[in-house]
Amino acid sequence: MQFPFINYSYLCTMKVAIVGAGAAGCFCAVNLKRMLPHVDVTVLERGQRPMAKLSITGGGRCNLTNTFRDITHLSQAYPRGWRLMERLFRQFSPQDTIVWWQEAGVPLVEQPDQCVFPRSQDAMQVVGTLLHEMQARGVKLLTQSPVAELPLGYDALVITSGGAPRLGSLSFLSSLNLSLQPPVPSLFALNINFTPLQDLTGIVVEDTIVSLAGTRFQAQGPLLITHFGMSGPAILRLSSYAARHLAEHDYKVTLTVNWMQGRNEEQVRTLLHPYLGTNKKLGNHHPQHLTSRHWAMLLDRASLTANHRWDALNHKEMNRLVATLTSDSYETTGRRTYRAEFVTCGGVSLSNINPNTFALKSHPNIFLAGEVLDVDAITGGFNLQAAWTMGYVVAKSISAMS
Ligand SMILES: Cc1cc2nc3c(=O)[nH]c(=O)nc-3n(C[C@H](O)[C@H](O)[C@H](O)COP(=O)(O)OP(=O)(O)OC[C@H]3O[C@@H](n4cnc5c(N)ncnc54)[C@H](O)[C@@H]3O)c2cc1C
Repeated sequence: MQFPFINYSYLCTMKVAIVGAGAAGCFCAVNLKRMLPHVDVTVLERGQRPMAKLSITGGGRCNLTNTFRDITHLSQAYPRGWRLMERLFRQFSPQDTIVWWQEAGVPLVEQPDQCVFPRSQDAMQVVGTLLHEMQARGVKLLTQSPVAELPLGYDALVITSGGAPRLGSLSFLSSLNLSLQPPVPSLFALNINFTPLQDLTGIVVEDTIVSLAGTRFQAQGPLLITHFGMSGPAILRLSSYAARHLAEHDYKVTLTVNWMQGRNEEQVRTLLHPYLGTNKKLGNHHPQHLTSRHWAMLLDRASLTANHRWDALNHKEMNRLVATLTSDSYETTGRRTYRAEFVTCGGVSLSNINPNTFALKSHPNIFLAGEVLDVDAITGGFNLQAAWTMGYVVAKSISAMS
């Protein structure tokens, strides 16, 4: 079925409207104009300026993609939508993204953590590059133009309105009767009311495994102890993997931390075994990756004292220490918005979409791309990569219509 506004005048000049001048919308506009220079493209943006969010990504440095070298399965990067992304990367991969930006005059650098940034470390270079090409190729950009109803008179319509923290923000799509996944936040730190932990504010433990008791949700990486609880990559990843579960439990869950670089109980016993032969005090002789202050707190949680001697530890005490080091549990009291990144889990269900063209199954001339869809990722450049890939694939699908 065609949507009634379809205008077949594109046999002469195809008219395309894009709702939202964000990362996906502007990338789509530029690529569409590269593929079909004569197509008439209008971008409708509700804000005062285009790509406002893109300009503050990565703390103003714009982590625009990732090498994906540390990702062994795409579900690690995209808790929602990984199958789709796997399919889409065959059309426009992270490597294609890197080449695209370099060729557009934005040299990139890869950090040791696999995140890719512009060499200029300036998100405005990314924004400026897209804006300049949109202008040079004659894309019409209408700012302060909020779309409240689907615009009429276009041959193709692209919805790239971004994450919708409230379902109400998607009301302009109501005439399409789409199935929606209720939005919940993703990528946040967790609040924990435990004073001894707050005294350790600023400590980073490089390699932890965090999990939610009674679930299979688990994430690995550096953990930052803060004045309100816990943050850092491991916690942000966990918040992404378990976004819906955490929302359902009002962010009050039991968080378990393995402080021992991924070692299980047996491996920790083996690591600590040589310590048991010494008459040194527990407080003075401990695994090197833990600071003395942190170690003191962990001893306390295991009901041991710093003056206790290693060779005097009995079996039960050793068990308590090993359990604390490998599965230290905290009750969370809520969530905190991460200062730099925030994405929405949920949005338009992928079941509405033809995964090859990104058109709606019900309306083949309406395309969706970016965070408006129920696709979201952990931090590290993966969210913008999704926006570039989807924007590109939609441009390709529209160009195939001509
Ligand atoms: C502070 C912050 C930092 C981030 N840093 C990174 C990072 O470094 N790397 C990374 O990969 N991801 C990052 N992200 C996530 C990333 O920015 C988003 O996933 C990405 O911008 C989504 O692109 P999009 O085009 O789908 O949506 P957006 O970029 O949000 O664009 C949507 C646009 O649509 C407009 N719009 C919405 N509704 C309407 C309407 N009805 N009519 C007209 N216009 C409308 C909005 O005003 C907006 O301009 C960050 C997010 C935040 C909030």
